[in-house]
Amino acid sequence: MPHSPVLPGLARDIGPAAGLVRDDDPVTTLQLGLLEGDGIGREVVPAAARVVESALAAAGAAPVEWVRLPLGADAIAEFGAAVPEPTLAALERLPGWILGPHDNASYPEAHRAALPPGGLIRHRFDLFANIRPATVLPGVRATVPDMDLVIVRENTEGFYADRNMYTGSGEFMPTPDVAMAVAVVTRRACERIVRVAFDLARRRRRRVTVVHKANVLSLTTGMYLDVAREIGRDHPDVTLDDQHVDAMAAHLVRRGGDFDVVVTENMFGDILSDLAGELSGSLGTAPSLNASQTKAMAQAAHGAAPDIAGHNRANPTAMILSAAMLLYRLGEFRGDPTLADAARRITRAVRTTTESGVATADLGGLASTSQFTEMVTARVARR
Ligand code: ATP
Repeated sequence: MPHSPVLPGLARDIGPAAGLVRDDDPVTTLQLGLLEGDGIGREVVPAAARVVESALAAAGAAPVEWVRLPLGADAIAEFGAAVPEPTLAALERLPGWILGPHDNASYPEAHRAALPPGGLIRHRFDLFANIRPATVLPGVRATVPDMDLVIVRENTEGFYADRNMYTGSGEFMPTPDVAMAVAVVTRRACERIVRVAFDLARRRRRRVTVVHKANVLSLTTGMYLDVAREIGRDHPDVTLDDQHVDAMAAHLVRRGGDFDVVVTENMFGDILSDLAGELSGSLGTAPSLNASQTKAMAQAAHGAAPDIAGHNRANPTAMILSAAMLLYRLGEFRGDPTLADAARRITRAVRTTTESGVATADLGGLASTSQFTEMVTARVARR
C-alpha cells in the first residue's frame, strides 16, 4: 500500500502555504512546554519527551529545554485551577508544547463546569486547526487496513457550546426539564480551516471531503459545504466531494481507504477522528496537532484512559507521533531542517518498531509503555 507521509509532511502542509507566520530566529535551544495532565498522561508524555530528546540529538538539532507546567488534577490541588494562570502565561511565550490528556470528569464538582483544559488552551491561543491523521502502521492489524486519511477539524467553535460565549456557557436550562445549547459557525472559521484542508490535499492525494449535515443543520453545517465549494473553485486540481456526517461514519467503516483529507466542524471532527483512529489501529496510535498561525500543540487524540492509568500499559504511539508533528512544524517556522530530520526519525522509528511485531496491549501485544518507548528511542538514532 502506498503510504502518504502525512506525519513528517504535515508541518509544511499547514505552514506557509496556509498563510502561517514564519519565525526566522536562529535556533540555539528549543524551548518546549511539557504538560503531563491526568491519567496515562503521566506515562505517555514523559515517553514522548524521551523520544524527542533522542531524536534531536541524533539529528544534530539544538537540545530541547523542557518547561514543565502544571495542568489537571495536580494543578487543581496545588493552584486551585486545572489550567492555572502561570501555565497560561508561560504558554504565551512558547512556540510549542506537548499536552497530555485531562480527565475533567474526575475533578471536584466546582471545576467540572469550567471549560476542559484542552478546550481552554485551544481557545485561548486560537489553535484553530486540529490535524488528525489516521494511518495504519505497519504490523498493526486494523479494521480498515488501507486507511490513510487526515481529518482537519475546526477547533474553536461549532457545536461545543462551552466555547461559544464571551462569558458563561452556551448550554443552559430555562427550566429543570429543558436543556438548550448554542452552536456557533462563522464564515471566517469555515474559510480558514477549509483552506488548510485544500493546502494539505495538494500535498497528498488531492481529494477533499467536506462533512456536514446540511439537510437539517443547513445554516450552520451548511456553511461548511458552501465555503468548501467556493474555495474548491480556486483549487481545480483538487477533487471535492461531501458527505452527511452520519453517512460518513458508515463510509469510514466500509471504505475508509477511499478518503484523503476530511474537513469538518469541531464536534463532528472529534467523533469521526476517534472512529478513524480506532479503525486504523487503536485510539492509542492516533496522533494530533493543534495549530494557530504562530503556535502548535501536540495532543494525542485519546483521553486520560483512567481504566489503565498507572499500569504501564498505555500505548505511547499517539503521543510520540504527535510530538513528531510538533517538531516538523516548528522546523518550518524556524527554517531549521534538523527539526524535520528529528520528526522523520521518530516517525520511521515508530513504524519500524510496530513492523517488527512489538505492540502494547491495546494492539494485542505484550510490550509495556516503557518497553515500547525504549524500542523507539533506540531506533531514532539509526539512519
Ligand atoms: P476523552 O473524552 O477525554 O477523549 P474518552 O472518554 O474518549 O476520553 P479515552 O480516555 O480516550 O476515553 O479512553 C477510551 C478507551 O480507549 C479506554 O478503554 C482506554 O483504555 C483506551 N485508550 C485510550 N488511550 C489509550 C492508549 N494510549 N493506550 C491504550 N488504550 C487507550
